[in-house]
Amino acid sequence: MKTWDYAESIESSAIVNIEKKYGIFLDGEFQTANSKKFLKTISPSTEEVLSSITVGNKNDIDSAVDSAKNGLKIWSKLTGTERAKYLFKLARLIQERSREFAVLESLDGGKPIKESRDFDLPQVAANFFYFAGWADKLDISWNTKGLKPYGIVGQIIPWNFPLLMLSWKVAPALATGNVVILKPAESTPLTALLFAELCQEVGLPPGVFNLVTGDGTTGAALVQHPDISKIAFTGSTAVGKYIQNETAGRDIGLTLELGGKAANIVYNDAAIDQAVEGVVNGIFFNQGHVCCAGSRLVLQEDIHDEFVSKLEKRMQSLRVGNPLDKNTDIGAINSKEQLDKISFLVNEGVSEGGTIFQTECELPANGFWFRPTLFTNAQPSYKIAREEIFGPVLTTLTFRTPEEAIDIANNTEYGLSAGIWTEKGSKILWTADRLQAGVIWANTFNKFDPSSPFGGYKESGFGREGGRHGLLSYLKVQS
Ligand code: NDP
Repeated sequence: MKTWDYAESIESSAIVNIEKKYGIFLDGEFQTANSKKFLKTISPSTEEVLSSITVGNKNDIDSAVDSAKNGLKIWSKLTGTERAKYLFKLARLIQERSREFAVLESLDGGKPIKESRDFDLPQVAANFFYFAGWADKLDISWNTKGLKPYGIVGQIIPWNFPLLMLSWKVAPALATGNVVILKPAESTPLTALLFAELCQEVGLPPGVFNLVTGDGTTGAALVQHPDISKIAFTGSTAVGKYIQNETAGRDIGLTLELGGKAANIVYNDAAIDQAVEGVVNGIFFNQGHVCCAGSRLVLQEDIHDEFVSKLEKRMQSLRVGNPLDKNTDIGAINSKEQLDKISFLVNEGVSEGGTIFQTECELPANGFWFRPTLFTNAQPSYKIAREEIFGPVLTTLTFRTPEEAIDIANNTEYGLSAGIWTEKGSKILWTADRLQAGVIWANTFNKFDPSSPFGGYKESGFGREGGRHGLLSYLKVQS
């Protein structure tokens, strides 16, 4: 043991109450599903089974649509001010119960408590407050006489930010007068189930928020239902493409928020220590399970050695371990499947010729873990430089001129986000103008605000979430 090591500081999980088994949430209450199939949701940091959740089938989706139709009859009669009251109540309750939500998110998904507590939950509440504030201002912002809600919206969310993605989708949809059927990811359903309880507590009219848990087949049944008027999806590009094919030719709205392989460009005039910190945040936040993660470090050649040496030193100080320990920087990998995918791509990187650096931290005996990893000497053609790894793995590429930095940054099928590090304002503007990415951060990374639109180009999807643009994604032109 080191002389000065951290003492554990474990957040108690006594605050959460997890049922042994969950049904689905329709007509404002939890119900036994038609499907008798269940799957187990586990804690990825211990592999302990937390609960069994229903794998909703086609009949359950039919029932959810019936529930949503009834909900829409009530919801569409309410004024924006009345809809806002429910959203404000939800926002306040989320704040009041944020500790419970944060612990549950960390247990079910493996993310460090300091992130679920200090990032996810404040952002979730902020999204509900923000969109609640819009519900009664739609008429004065746009001529909404020409716009109307889609009606029944199907929303499919991933496992990396379960409750945050729920808030990005549910809050604007309800604010604009739609009703929702939500399908959370199979490995992280618990916070969505707790959110359903909150909907009961605030007295949200039955059928306005519906929740059908399950796996990919449940999501596919939702996409295929003819009475769904819009699908909002966040997840892999492969499933996004499937949904686009499946909905082609139908009169249906679609937004797809898919993968990314963001370039974090560091020029030689950047404030190096701050840039190291930003690069660490860009890739190791949430174990790198982030669609907009800065997974390609695009580094000016003449600062390569100094930067990499500082980066490796900083990486050694990252604490990997129990997500409920308040000291933890990097929690558990979300699932065995994801760990296998990360391990496979990292092995590919080594066999292709990249130089690997991994930190020396001790890893817990049970659960799914991956050491913070840095590749140098990588070529743009390597898999680790092209494919979304979705884990704590950073690949370094070097450039000599700003033009070359742009070529490298844009040399990807994705176009979700990018970062620029330089002391020169004019260089930021020059670079940002040329980057093909939906979100660009300068001298910072991974900053979010509900008022700021988020979304991608190319294989990162289309449509925007957040801000006024995000509201428009839930309104269609009146025919
Ligand atoms: P998926 O795209 O499979 O999952 C996202 C959501 O879609 C989940 O709710 C999933 O359900 C659901 N889904 C799966 N198949 C279908 C289908 N045919 N029709 C409708 N919905 C479906 O991502 P994975 O969880 O499999 O992760 C795979 C890779 O995707 C990761 O390694 C990462 O690279 C990328 N990814 C990107 C994300 C992003 O934010 N851009 C988020 C998550 C993953 P279920 O969980 O039950 O399978």
